[in-house]
Amino acid sequence: MKTTVPFLDMKAQYDELREELDQAYQRVMDSGWYILSDEARAFEQEFADRIGVKHCIGVGNGLEALQLIFMAYGIGAGDEVIVPANTYIASWLSVSYVGATPIPVEPNPATHNIDPTRIAQAITKRTKAIMPVHLYGQPTEMTEIWKLAEVHGLRIVEDSAQAHGVKYMDKMAGNLGSAAAFSFYPTKNLGAFGDAGAVTTNDDDLADKVRVLRNYGSRKKYYNEVKGHNSRLDPLQAAFLRVKLKYLDEWNKRRDKLAHYYCEHLNGLPGLGLPITAPQTEHGWHIFVVTHDDRDRLKSYLDEHGVDTLIHYPVPPHLSEAYADLGYKAGDFPLSEKLANTVLSLPIGPHVTQEQADFVVERIREFCLSGRP
Ligand SMILES: *Cc1c(COP(=O)(O)O)cnc(C)c1O
Repeated sequence: MKTTVPFLDMKAQYDELREELDQAYQRVMDSGWYILSDEARAFEQEFADRIGVKHCIGVGNGLEALQLIFMAYGIGAGDEVIVPANTYIASWLSVSYVGATPIPVEPNPATHNIDPTRIAQAITKRTKAIMPVHLYGQPTEMTEIWKLAEVHGLRIVEDSAQAHGVKYMDKMAGNLGSAAAFSFYPTKNLGAFGDAGAVTTNDDDLADKVRVLRNYGSRKKYYNEVKGHNSRLDPLQAAFLRVKLKYLDEWNKRRDKLAHYYCEHLNGLPGLGLPITAPQTEHGWHIFVVTHDDRDRLKSYLDEHGVDTLIHYPVPPHLSEAYADLGYKAGDFPLSEKLANTVLSLPIGPHVTQEQADFVVERIREFCLSGRP
């Protein structure tokens, strides 16, 4: 059946900003500089200003942004990093890549973010950092995490890959810990037209180290201080991101409006759980997640009726084949496993029309009110 409502319309993003993006492309091509360059530096400055941090370092993608932070902090073999049990696997992989061990902690079932009250019991002598992941675009509740980090002398490394331009209390995601990683994967709220990422921080020493590490470990060409990586922000992507950064707030507002519309019109349906925003928190609505005990049937019904949905995420990392080596089994993190079996992501984005929103609402109402057994 023909799709009526796509999950996210990427082409519509290009169409809306076509003129400015085409100009940005021309500017980079005409500049003759195709690695980092003034374009990457300009984006770094503009993004740092937007987040309210001293430093932004543009890198290849979100996963490498996280990994470079851990490398720069010297976190590695024998160390532990506390991570959410329910997150995209990239959060865990960044810890594994530096040789450290991800220690999962269950979520608050209301927000799906890591439950700060469960972190203390996971801290050991080997713990070096806590990684809050601002899942679905909602910043993690940080107050308790700030206290724990202070008491135990731990770093806070934010995975802000889904949270662009949103605040917890009076600070933006990306300025809530020691350092933060952003992804600009095309579908994110601030997305490039290819892979891109960034590290944000107020830590001068860390910023300097990440800058060197992303470029072969060299400050001066061909003089290598450390065994670095090649993970540099592509100037073409930087130029596109400079255009899209200007529209981040407006596009986040459109998402917020749609999210409120969904919440209002799906409220009170039998069996359907709606997303909850914690106090003092702005939700970026990168993903709009509902829950239903009969999730798979709801998903099939929507598929059949032309509404694209996704599951974020069907397999929690501890049960993924990639992490068989850690020896976890089903039942070890029941809250995360329950979420994996009940969450469903509805279409959301800056270009969902009112007709499409109504169509999604109607199909879900039909399913929930059909008097199924
Ligand atoms: C997208 C994402 C990443 C990884 O970003 P890439 O740019 O794809 O490497 C990491 N963590 C979370 C939570 C993400 O959503």
